[in-house]
Amino acid sequence: MACNWDWADDFLKRGRKKYERPLYDRGLRIWKEDRWSPDSDINIGWKYNQQPVKMVTYHKDGTTTINGIQKGTYYGGNASYVILNSQSTRLTIHRYAGIQVFQRNFKFYLQEDNAPLTPAKIQGCRTCKQTGLQDSWCSSTTCWNTQVDDEGQVVCKEHPDVLMVASWRGWHYVPCEHGNNASHVIPKGEPCHYCRGSKKRDYGSKPERTQWDGTPLRLHDGKLIKSPTTLLERMMADYAEPIS
Ligand SMILES: [Zn+2]
Ligand SMILES: [Zn+2]
Ligand SMILES: [Zn+2]
Repeated sequence: MACNWDWADDFLKRGRKKYERPLYDRGLRIWKEDRWSPDSDINIGWKYNQQPVKMVTYHKDGTTTINGIQKGTYYGGNASYVILNSQSTRLTIHRYAGIQVFQRNFKFYLQEDNAPLTPAKIQGCRTCKQTGLQDSWCSSTTCWNTQVDDEGQVVCKEHPDVLMVASWRGWHYVPCEHGNNASHVIPKGEPCHYCRGSKKRDYGSKPERTQWDGTPLRLHDGKLIKSPTTLLERMMADYAEPIS
């Protein structure tokens, strides 16, 4: 299901009101910005909050706006806050705009599906501190073949040399190759799972992510539309505007 204006328009047309419908998904609604216009933008979010929360907006031209900022009036003043802290917002944007939002160290990042990978960055493995080894776990086993002999002693024919510990329950420990009855750690006992013993790891080769402050961004097919304007160009445009 490609979620875009055509999909949303069709979904609304199949509803009763034609301009607003529940999405049957976490209280989300889908509604036309201008219910009388056939070309209206279509929003997805929480419509009946004190101030409607628009997380995804579809446009007739096939593009989509994602939004992570909620503006409103609070205690008599204007305020805006980031709604991306809510996992529900991030999920909504992923599901209905096709781009993932991640939170890390109090910042937010966008990741396109099938995003290109960052360059490889081979460094010493941080998990095993470049030893190529990690601690392993040795488990003891239990044996249930105990019997009571003629003298009332608990014995095991399979393990005649083993001291019967906890044998009153009908079982006994079978010590591991290290002679332990209990499970224990073997320091540096096996190759590091992360570098497979190679001591080196690729800390690069990750999907590219773009930091996002939540201000509205335009997408097409789940991909960010890279603005061709540089900061200088925008400053020039702002400067030129009053003259024209
Ligand atoms: Zn036994
Ligand atoms: Zn052991
Ligand atoms: Zn390692």
